Amino acid sequence: MSTATIDKVQEAEEKEIQRIFNLHMQNKQEVRNTTYADRRAKIKKLLKVYLKYRPQIREACYKDFKKHPIEVDLTEIYSVVHEAKHTLNHLHKWMKPQKVSTPLALFGSSSKILYQSKGTVLIISPWNFPFTLTFEPLISAIAAGNTVIIKPSEITSNSASLMKKIIEEVFDEKEVAYFEGGVETSTNLLKLPFNHIFFTGSPGVGKIVMAAAAKNLTSVTLELGGKSPTIIDETANIDMAAKRTSWSKFLNNGQICIAPDHIFVHESKKDEYIASVKKYIKKFFSDDASKESSYGRIVNQMHHQRISKYLEDAIEKGGKIEAGGKLDKTQNYISPTIITNLSEDSDLLQEEIFGPVMPIIAYKDIDEVIEKINSKETPLALYIYSKSKKNINYVLNNTSAGGSCVNHNAIHYFNNNLPFGGSNNSGIGKAKGIFGFQAFSNARGVYQQHIPNALELLLPPYNDFKQKLIDLTIKYF
Ligand code: NAD
Repeated sequence: MSTATIDKVQEAEEKEIQRIFNLHMQNKQEVRNTTYADRRAKIKKLLKVYLKYRPQIREACYKDFKKHPIEVDLTEIYSVVHEAKHTLNHLHKWMKPQKVSTPLALFGSSSKILYQSKGTVLIISPWNFPFTLTFEPLISAIAAGNTVIIKPSEITSNSASLMKKIIEEVFDEKEVAYFEGGVETSTNLLKLPFNHIFFTGSPGVGKIVMAAAAKNLTSVTLELGGKSPTIIDETANIDMAAKRTSWSKFLNNGQICIAPDHIFVHESKKDEYIASVKKYIKKFFSDDASKESSYGRIVNQMHHQRISKYLEDAIEKGGKIEAGGKLDKTQNYISPTIITNLSEDSDLLQEEIFGPVMPIIAYKDIDEVIEKINSKETPLALYIYSKSKKNINYVLNNTSAGGSCVNHNAIHYFNNNLPFGGSNNSGIGKAKGIFGFQAFSNARGVYQQHIPNALELLLPPYNDFKQKLIDLTIKYF
């Protein structure tokens, strides 16, 4: 079987982790002092080597979860290249001290914000987009002038080994270091007083990371997951909604943090929508997706079993398979599946699915849907398909989510001008573009006095004149 296995995880030695960490702490001031030209050169070098390894990246992703090379190009190559280019184009501006105005009461002074590197940072990444979710934050961390230690996921082992090769070809270990390994390596890294931790993974592990960070008061960016709903209202273009939700649900075999987890469709459009999704499943993956190279696999047996159990649970509770539902555990295969008639307490409506199973729920009134969404954890993404401006604004204004697309799914990830991240259970902090740069920076406020200001008139001993002066200041400034 070619899909990833987690049988033989090699953990990093604690002594070696400590050695590298000490090296980074000693080197962080030098890296903090690097210029725009230095950082630009590093990102350019990384980009060049990354593109040199494009064939090997495609191969590693195929070995890990039978991901089609074109899908790798879109979600592991283009994404990283675009983030690097966007950073190269904007870094000069982001690094510049930002002048800010000063209140009149503080006349005779000037103020600015310096974006200084946090120092020595840790990036822990997941397996579902192993390259993108490691290299994108790495680009932000380098742009901000940090030394970086990386711990990738042990689950996609082919990708993890290749990333080590790329990192070691580009960087000196005192600047960017890489530790393969699993929970033990992660736990040992998390004991150290990093200046920032950028974690991408599940909310459960996110809580472990935040608790460990709290011991050192280390700041965190947590890019987590959850259940991202899609709403298709009665005015929506159903064929378009079916095409786009089918693409984003079955891309990467549904193993996407911002996949449309479940679909709410207006009851008047339910049958039309189901028929259209079936049409697109056939168009994308023929009648038998197991034979199509465009269709990936679940990453390992554990996750295959997890999703299989969700399906069994749903069917036991009355769920109706409308399409697919075919499983082959020897291949970690689950066919593109549509399921309806779900009981509210079924695992498919309670847990993040992270697989190619699309629950469809019909609704009568948009307020029912909003109430349901708001009764759950804040999603990483929320999507709405509609032609009605009023409905779109109503949904956006009455729900909360890390990000949203209107009349599309997941595509907001590719716009580096938008902040990417969750809210509460789906994450803390934002990534990509300037938001990634700022996540890895300390915004240091600097106030400089040029000539004496009004405060000089308010120094002790206090008297009536000074009282009048402060009264006037409160009233007018
Ligand atoms: P995970 O939380 O199991 O693992 C993520 C990383 O944490 C891995 O490197 C792993 O080795 C490490 N880890 C696992 N258990 C640990 C522990 N007990 N202590 C310390 N470290 C530990 O997540 P995953 O299965 O790799 O990825 C899937 C999850 O990630 C989903 O919930 C998905 O929604 C989420 N995700 C979020 C984003 C985002 O950008 N918000 C992107 C991709 C995936």
